[in-house]
Amino acid sequence: MFSGLRTAGPMAVALGLCTLAFTTAALAEAESAPGSAAVDAKRLLAADSEPQNWMSYGRTYDEQRYSTLKQIDTKSVAKLGLSWSFDFNTERGIEATSIVVDGVMYTTSSWSIVHALDARTGKHLWTYDPQVAKDKTRHACCDAVNRGVAVWQGQVFVGVLDGRLVALDAGTGKVNWSVATVDPQLPYTITGAPRVIDGRVMIGNGGAEFGVRGFLGAYAAQTGELLWRFYTVPGNPALGFENDAMAMAAKTWNGKWWELGGGGGTVWDAMAYDPELDLLYIGVGNGTPWNREIRSPGGGDNLFLSSIVALRPETGEYVWHYQTTPGESWDYTATQHIILADVEVQGKPRKVLMQAPKNGFFYVLDRTDGTLISANNYINITWATHVDMATGRPVEVPGARYEDKPMTIVPSYLGGHNWHPMSYNPETGLVYIPVLDFPARYGQPESFIYRKDGTNTGTDGIIGSLPDDNAERNAYGALVAGRLLAWDPIKQEEAWHVEHPGSWNGGTLSTAGNLVFQGTADGKFVAFRADNGERLWDFSAQTGIVAPAITYAIDGEQYVSVNAGWGGAFALVFGEFVQAESLPNVSRVLTFKLGANKQLPNVDWRRTVVFNPPQQTASEEVLREGFAQYQDTCMGCHGLNAVSGLLVPDLRGSGYLHNADAWDGVVLGGALRARGMPAANKLIDEKQSAAIRAYVIQQAWRGKALQQQ
Ligand code: CA
Repeated sequence: MFSGLRTAGPMAVALGLCTLAFTTAALAEAESAPGSAAVDAKRLLAADSEPQNWMSYGRTYDEQRYSTLKQIDTKSVAKLGLSWSFDFNTERGIEATSIVVDGVMYTTSSWSIVHALDARTGKHLWTYDPQVAKDKTRHACCDAVNRGVAVWQGQVFVGVLDGRLVALDAGTGKVNWSVATVDPQLPYTITGAPRVIDGRVMIGNGGAEFGVRGFLGAYAAQTGELLWRFYTVPGNPALGFENDAMAMAAKTWNGKWWELGGGGGTVWDAMAYDPELDLLYIGVGNGTPWNREIRSPGGGDNLFLSSIVALRPETGEYVWHYQTTPGESWDYTATQHIILADVEVQGKPRKVLMQAPKNGFFYVLDRTDGTLISANNYINITWATHVDMATGRPVEVPGARYEDKPMTIVPSYLGGHNWHPMSYNPETGLVYIPVLDFPARYGQPESFIYRKDGTNTGTDGIIGSLPDDNAERNAYGALVAGRLLAWDPIKQEEAWHVEHPGSWNGGTLSTAGNLVFQGTADGKFVAFRADNGERLWDFSAQTGIVAPAITYAIDGEQYVSVNAGWGGAFALVFGEFVQAESLPNVSRVLTFKLGANKQLPNVDWRRTVVFNPPQQTASEEVLREGFAQYQDTCMGCHGLNAVSGLLVPDLRGSGYLHNADAWDGVVLGGALRARGMPAANKLIDEKQSAAIRAYVIQQAWRGKALQQQ
C-alpha cells in the first residue's frame, strides 16, 4: 500500500534493512497515524463504519451528509458550546466542507488556501497558500471561494481558483505535484472540491458566465498525470468529436456556439459515486451565453447543459444523462448537490439519485439508467408548470424565454437552491434543502457582442437590474426570501420548513441525533429537530455562514464544526439586501462539543457607506451608457445598482469618484490589481470608464438621499 510505505518509510530507514518494519501490524498502525491522511479505497467504501471521520466531501460516496453519531441529540444539544475556533486571515467568502481523518482537519479558506489543524484543539499544523494572483477575480463569477479538499493515501488535493490542481503532503503541506487542469489564458476557475475514486482525482471547473467549454478531468493521484477528460458540450464539429456522446450532443445544437466562448456546461460542483454500479454522477452547468436564442439560434436542447451525466470513473466513458432544463436560458445549472440513496418507492426498493437543481424542481431518478421516477417543484416557480412524466421535460409557461418582452421569473439565476449542500437523513427519510426564493428579470439585449474575458450572459443588464424607483425596489426586496426546507422525496412534498431572515443561508448536516445543523445569513449557527423543524439551539457567529457543517469524534467525544464567513454570489450581487443586515465577513472555523463554553472575541461589525460624491455633470445619455456598462462589467463583484455587499468596496463611497485620472488608473490601468481589482482596459475604453464613474456618482447621490431620510 502506497500510504503504508510512505508513512513507514522513516521507520524502515531507522531500522536499517530490518524487514519487521513491514509486518502487517506495522502497516495497520501506520495507516491510522495522525496527519497521514491514510485514506484509501477500502476506507472510503466503508466510510459508514467510521462515523468518527469525515473522509470525503459529502462524508460518503453517496454524498448524504448524514452522520450516525448521536452523542449530540435533541436533549443534549442544549449543552453544546464552542470548543475552539481558528481564524483565517482572509476576508472573502468561506464555503468549504472540512475533511477530518484520524484527528486531523484539512480545510480551505478563500483564495484556495489550505490549512491542516488538530481537530481536537484547533492547533495549527500547516498552511499552504497557492498564491493566486488576486486579479483572477476577473474570471470568478462568484467570489474567490473554495469548497474544500480531498485526501487519498497521504496526500491532500486542492483545486486552485486559477485552474491548478495541487497535491500536498498531508503531513507537511509541501507540494508533491501541481498541474494546470485548464488553459490559463481562458476564463476558467476552480472553486469545487475534488473527489478521489480508486486513485483518480476528479476535478471540474467554472467559467460559463464568461465563456468556456466545460469538462471534468481525472488525474492520477500519485503523479498528476491526466488520465481522461469528459467534455460536457460539443466543440466545433469541423474539428471532429472526441467521442460518440459528443456527436450525439452536437445534434441538439445550432449556430456557432464554439465562437461564443465554448458553449458553457461547466462541472463546478456536484459529484457522487455508486461503487456497486461503478458510476460517477456529475452535475453540469448553464450555457454560454445563458440566452439560448443567441447561443443556439433556432432552438435545440443543447446537451449536456443543465444535465446529470453518469460516467465510468475509470475511463470517463458516457453511460446516461438526464437533462433537467432542455435549452436552458436562465442560468439554471444542474451542478447542485447530488445525493444517492436506496429507498422504497411504491413498495419497491429503488436505487435513486436526488437533486434540487436551480430550476426549482426536485428530481428523483433511477440511478441505474437515469429514468425519471418523480419530480415536483420545491418552491413556487413561475417559468414552468410541472414536469411532464412521459417526456421528463418541464412544461414551460408562454413567454418564459423572454423572447419578445422581459419577464420576471422565479427562481432567479441564483436558483431555488444553489451550491449549498443539502443532506439526507435515512431515519426521517427527509432531504434538508437550503432554499433561495426570489425572482429575477430577464430580457433580450439590444445587441450582443461576445467579449473575451467579459461576462457573456446574453441578457440585458439594465433589465436585469433592480428597479430604480425606491418603492418598487422595496417591493422587490420583500420578495427576497430563504428557508430551510425538509422535503419528503418519496411523496414529493414538504414535511416542514423554517423561514430565515436572509436568503443566502448555509448548507445542511443531519445526524442520527435527530438533528439538522445549518448556519444562517444573519450570523447564527442553528440546530433544528430533524423530524419537525423545532429550533433547539443556536450560537451567534458574528458573521453570515454559508458553508455546511460536519461532525466527527475523537476518543468518543463528538464534535460539530462549521466554517463561518459570509460571501459568494448573492453576497456580491445583492448588496442592497446584504447591507440591510450588514454582517461583516469574519472568516474562521468554529468547532463545538458538549459542555464547552469558549467565547468569541467581540467584533465591531456594523459597516456603513460614507457618501461624499462630487457634483454630477454627466448627461442622461452618458448616465444610461454608464448604467449599461456597469451592469455588464462591474456588477458581478460590486453589486446590482452599485450597492456593494461589502466584501469588496462600495464604489458609491469611493474617493476615486473625485479624480477621473485616478479612477481610470484603477479601472483601466489595474492600479489596485494586487487587492483583487482587475484592469478592465480590454473590456471598456476611457469614455465608458467615465460613463461608469458618472453612473456611480448618480447612485452615490441616490444612496446619500436615502440615508438622510
Ligand atoms: Ca452560472
